[in-house]
Amino acid sequence: MDCSYPKPTEIHCPHCNQMVTINVGLIVDQADQPDSIQNIIEGSFKTHLCPNCTQNLSEVDQPVLIYRPKQQPPLLFAPALKNTLAEDQTHTLQPIFAQGV
Ligand SMILES: [Zn+2]
Repeated sequence: MDCSYPKPTEIHCPHCNQMVTINVGLIVDQADQPDSIQNIIEGSFKTHLCPNCTQNLSEVDQPVLIYRPKQQPPLLFAPALKNTLAEDQTHTLQPIFAQGV
């Protein structure tokens, strides 16, 4: 079962000067994306390509929850770098709550 939860996020592309929408992973299922933890450690997880001009966008600073169903601990949380804890909780919990999950 894929438990990943990507959230469409609007971001400004400095290369083509457009607002573009990219999918930022809020919950990552490690079984589905085995490289996700390594990518998060290296920072590549939070970099995205602009869908308009295919240039690298600046880092999207969002917290991410990693779900590992067969491992201990089954959940790992990588907080956003610059957000406060309150913002983390708002970003992570509100959209999930709104969907009634
Ligand atoms: Zn662009």
